[in-house]
Amino acid sequence: MSVPVIYPGSFDPVTNGHLDLIKRAARIFNTVIVGVATKTQKKALFTPRERLEMLKETTKGIKNITIELFDGLVIEYARQKKVKVLVRGLRMISDFEYELQMALTNRRLAQDIETIFLMPSEGYSFLSSALIKEAAALGADLSSFVPSSVALRLKKKLKTGK
Ligand code: ADP
Repeated sequence: MSVPVIYPGSFDPVTNGHLDLIKRAARIFNTVIVGVATKTQKKALFTPRERLEMLKETTKGIKNITIELFDGLVIEYARQKKVKVLVRGLRMISDFEYELQMALTNRRLAQDIETIFLMPSEGYSFLSSALIKEAAALGADLSSFVPSSVALRLKKKLKTGK
């Protein structure tokens, strides 16, 4: 579809689930802008720049995607980019309530912007950045959750803080 979309999120860090969603979106839409939120609700482990770099490293093969930082409201960012469609992921029914609330709030704030939802492959439907950070802190093998470059960064960050 010749429609550009924004996939906004914290990506702290990017997981195989996020990547699955990015690939799905890139197959449907001509431009996928991945917006990395610089201000997150929970304190992020990685800096915005690190989160952006990890996304760049792990999406090299995808042509129609751009990765950027943004701060403030997603809808303001979308307006700035002249984008009318936001993409979000739905893993489980537990995501639904929060995502619905957010989509409806955004719609109230910007009636011309729609949110659409994509579902990851079922193998990734349990994956979250939060869980991966916990598993990493406990020394788990992360190879089926995140790309190897992200697993390395996680180990280093948890060990040295950098
Ligand atoms: P946020 O803090 O904005 O929720 P996240 O980086 O946690 O940012 O998630 C961004 C979007 O990606 C959300 O819509 C979330 O539901 C979705 N998402 C996160 N993990 C997965 C996954 N494993 N599979 C599919 N979608 C996911």
